[in-house]
Amino acid sequence: MAVSPVDAAPAAASLKGLLPAELEALAVREGARSFAGRQLLTWMYGRTAASFEAMTDLPRALRVRLAAGYRLEEATVAAERRAADGTIKLLVALHDGARVETVIIPEDDRVTLCVSTQVGCARGCGFCATARMRLARNLAAAEIVEQVVLARRRAAVTNVVFMGMGEPLDNYENVRRAVLLLTAPSGFGLGSRHVTVSTVGIVPRIRQLATDRVPACLTLSLTAPDDDLRSRLMPVNRSWPIAEVLGALRDWADTTRRTPTLAYVLLKGVNDDLVRAGRLAALALKARAKVNLIPFNATLGFERPPEEVVTRFQEVLKRRGVIALIRRERGGEIAAACGQLATEAGRA
Ligand code: SAH
Repeated sequence: MAVSPVDAAPAAASLKGLLPAELEALAVREGARSFAGRQLLTWMYGRTAASFEAMTDLPRALRVRLAAGYRLEEATVAAERRAADGTIKLLVALHDGARVETVIIPEDDRVTLCVSTQVGCARGCGFCATARMRLARNLAAAEIVEQVVLARRRAAVTNVVFMGMGEPLDNYENVRRAVLLLTAPSGFGLGSRHVTVSTVGIVPRIRQLATDRVPACLTLSLTAPDDDLRSRLMPVNRSWPIAEVLGALRDWADTTRRTPTLAYVLLKGVNDDLVRAGRLAALALKARAKVNLIPFNATLGFERPPEEVVTRFQEVLKRRGVIALIRRERGGEIAAACGQLATEAGRA
């Protein structure tokens, strides 16, 4: 006989992931004033209280009700590895046993956190380690922001990039919520210039980012300036070819008045020739975008170009007036670098 929902023990619901207005409404539903919702937000993200009991300025009755029906903790750190360059990789265990990786990257005067948005990924880019895991599931907004909470216990995070495992725009609503919480003054309080979403190029969702005014910067992972090669490396290109995705990027830039970034993973002998550098420069100028060059980090199948090829590629872009930075590998020896994120199960 099926157990009715009334008989079943109520499963604890997530509080993290709720937007400020939703927390206020929840406080009122639980018999407190809406202001208590704001206080909750501050406790969860500003001061990171370990229990409801520790939220001393909330009414006692509310604390008891919250403790009975809601959970504060969304994930735990199952393993932690530190690289010589200061990079820290966290293996984060979720409630159902699924695992994702989160990387803390200290550089000069900032600390960038690279968060995952999915367990695995469905987009199948040929050079990416996460792609080999295929998609298990989306992360909840609560699980995305929990990665930031866990990281902030270890470092003063100044920037968050959605460049870990998964395709953020295939998990749009949870990513949107996470961005709103990261930038909410009474939440994490990051400036929208310090939050970046990175995508393989899901055109309708790029347009939605602009319509919804999601307060974040945007990076498009281009990696090939011609449809032929891009379709081979990134199957998403067969649905939305380069002209279409760059059109969406340009409209996003016009609406948000922000400069988008093109990420270009340099693969030895595949996309690192100077003809392609010239084509990339033309596309970047047309899209009014900056370029981040990412020399390939070793996973199966491809190689990283020699240093002088990378520099020459960058020179072509610079000479044409494109702002082009080289993203050096960080945390390589702990498999924490771009495109290396995959849990043991998916690394096989
Ligand atoms: N799905 C999103 C975010 C995750 S990947 C996206 O593709 O943008 C983050 C960045 O790492 C992307 O620019 C991707 O092209 C790059 N990347 C993937 N595998 C890589 C590898 N092995 N070496 C270097 N960069 C890689």
